[in-house]
Amino acid sequence: MTQELLDTLPALRVGRPLVVAIDGPSGSGKSSVSKEVARRLRLAYLDTGAMYRALTWFCVNTGINLNDAATVEQAARDLVLELSTSPHEEFVRVDGVDVAEAIREPAISSAVSAVATTLGARTELIRRQRELIEKHHRRMVVEGRDITTVVAPGAEVRMLLTASEEARLRRRGAQLGGTQNADQLAAQVIHRDAKDSTVVNFTQAADGVVTLDSSELDFEETVDAALVIVTKVLNRD
Ligand code: C5P
Repeated sequence: MTQELLDTLPALRVGRPLVVAIDGPSGSGKSSVSKEVARRLRLAYLDTGAMYRALTWFCVNTGINLNDAATVEQAARDLVLELSTSPHEEFVRVDGVDVAEAIREPAISSAVSAVATTLGARTELIRRQRELIEKHHRRMVVEGRDITTVVAPGAEVRMLLTASEEARLRRRGAQLGGTQNADQLAAQVIHRDAKDSTVVNFTQAADGVVTLDSSELDFEETVDAALVIVTKVLNRD
């Protein structure tokens, strides 16, 4: 990426809304790429997956039956959640308890789809997500599965970050530090995506959504490619 283009990035649409919506499956590199894009553009950052994970952690820890939709929905409304919206610090607290690490545990990863497919719970979390976007004057990178289509279809920039199944499994494996065998990992990533796909479509780009395939790109290259998309889309308008 040219220095000239890089220098213009922080000044992009200063004082005006700039929502960058990024969707994608697990292991696409979405979280780390989105966070770096937010840093480079000096925008706030929202990891919506962390919200679904925090709600799942709460349900599991309070013994709520994940198949009991009404109770899960009520839990979503009652959830006392504090989540960092800065790309420079990470915290997730439920009732004041730090759960940032606990929500990444395999037990939560395998339970989260049950919560995320509870439509009433989604409605509540989507409401909170939109509230956070407004609170940040619509200057935010928001990442998840349904941001480009449901949460913020009016976002200034909408992107689908994909990667081949092989690349996604490799990245998730590395992230988990090799603690899972190949079968456990495949079960987690592929089955979770399959279940999540029953309520949201994050495998194909909707109209107006730009696809970025990161299979052959490293982290820096993916960030650069995402920033090029942002500048191109904004210059087109
Ligand atoms: O992005 P991450 O893998 O942390 O997301 C965890 C889970 O949260 C996903 O597997 C999905 O079930 C749910 N999710 C969702 N909609 C979003 C973000 C995450 O359903 N916008």
